[in-house]
Amino acid sequence: MRVIIIGAGIGGLALAQALHRAGIEVSVHDRDRTVADTGGYRLHLDGTACAALRRHLPPALYQALLGSSAGDASFRRFAVLDHRMRLLAEEPRERDETLLVGRIPLRRLLTYGLDDALRFGSAYTGHEVRGDATVVARFADGSTVHGDLLVGADGVGSRVARALAGRPTSHPLGVSGLAGRTHLTDATRALLPAALRSGPALAVGPGGIGVFLSVHDPVAGTAVDATTCTDVPADVEPGDLVWGVNAADRAFPAGLRSAAPMELQRSAAAMLEGWDGALRALVAAEAGAVGFFGFHAADPDGDPTPWPSGVVTAIGDAVHAMPPTGGRAAATAIRDADLLATRLIEARTGTTTIPLAVHGYERRMPAYAADAIRESLAPLAWMRRLSTPGTRYLAHAGLATVATARRLRRG
Ligand SMILES: Cc1cc2nc3c(=O)[nH]c(=O)nc-3n(C[C@H](O)[C@H](O)[C@H](O)COP(=O)(O)OP(=O)(O)OC[C@H]3O[C@@H](n4cnc5c(N)ncnc54)[C@H](O)[C@@H]3O)c2cc1C
Repeated sequence: MRVIIIGAGIGGLALAQALHRAGIEVSVHDRDRTVADTGGYRLHLDGTACAALRRHLPPALYQALLGSSAGDASFRRFAVLDHRMRLLAEEPRERDETLLVGRIPLRRLLTYGLDDALRFGSAYTGHEVRGDATVVARFADGSTVHGDLLVGADGVGSRVARALAGRPTSHPLGVSGLAGRTHLTDATRALLPAALRSGPALAVGPGGIGVFLSVHDPVAGTAVDATTCTDVPADVEPGDLVWGVNAADRAFPAGLRSAAPMELQRSAAAMLEGWDGALRALVAAEAGAVGFFGFHAADPDGDPTPWPSGVVTAIGDAVHAMPPTGGRAAATAIRDADLLATRLIEARTGTTTIPLAVHGYERRMPAYAADAIRESLAPLAWMRRLSTPGTRYLAHAGLATVATARRLRRG
């Protein structure tokens, strides 16, 4: 069996690792020239995604992932703050295993051992299914690849999923994010809001602006001692404050899509006028990377794979795009990869066929994907609701009530 995977992002690489380890031939194609090309910040992988990676990756590779991930102490709870960094609400984190890892280190580690199966600089343009139920994928450089299954793991705006569905599989939400990383130095550490000591936060402020904040500092403590990762070296990033200024498209200055990183950073700081001064100084301080992204989502009530199951399918953001505000997209892509790989491994042993394996994946995926989309959309609704001083006052009062109720229950 030969599986062609379009997209060496998180879902595509997780699928490639699982199939490769099971002895199934894969070829993975990405239009990027290297894993660092499209950047990225910090990804949160939940217990289900960690369990899938633990099952499908060579143990030394999983150990290196933990050795590259910030330890549990950096995520004990998620907080909602106001624009002065005062606590509005908090949610303790479930005690599942979690990976908090940079997108580039995660991609780099997931390429480990795939060697010749990986084709960077290889942009998919189309495909055709042949009469013998095999598939040929075409690439921008004129080359073609022949296989038994084609999987689109090509992210938001997927060409593979659009070819199957006959329409785009997600829509723009009218909300965008300016995201960056500020290097942690003695000076910038002194400015960090106290609320970030126990985990990430979403700060909501005037005009429906929400700022996601997270200290990503694997150097201060990785989940597994990075020096024990000798077979597969860990990829430990320097400490950064990861921030993202999220708002309705109309709140951003025009022309940001083509703006240089310095201009993006200046715009982010300008949008936070009236916010906590230390936070503004952090956003304006020396930044490692700044990007501007439009948020997209698939319809959580729609059918993410509205085509008959066959020898072409799609996983991850390609079929269930969601904004980064829930921290669920990468974990859900890995869950798809796990489910599809498990079914394909059964097909290889002859207990099912490739279209039936694909059908099994396409039937089970929509329920958990819809949950993840809804959860990811929820913070955008809070940002809208908490955009006025009145609603923020009510949120303070609500928090006090919840805290009192908890104390009474404990009593
Ligand atoms: C630049 C970027 C930064 C991100 N940063 C964050 C973040 O900081 N935090 C967070 O929670 N989420 C982030 N995300 C989203 C998160 O990484 C994805 O939601 C998650 O990884 C889903 O995985 P996926 O495999 O479906 O798609 P992705 O991981 O997005 O992978 C899709 C891959 O397909 C490739 N591709 C697309 N079209 C083609 C084509 N025609 N031919 C070949 N290859 C193609 C792309 O280059 C990409 O590598 C980011 C996504 C991107 C693209």
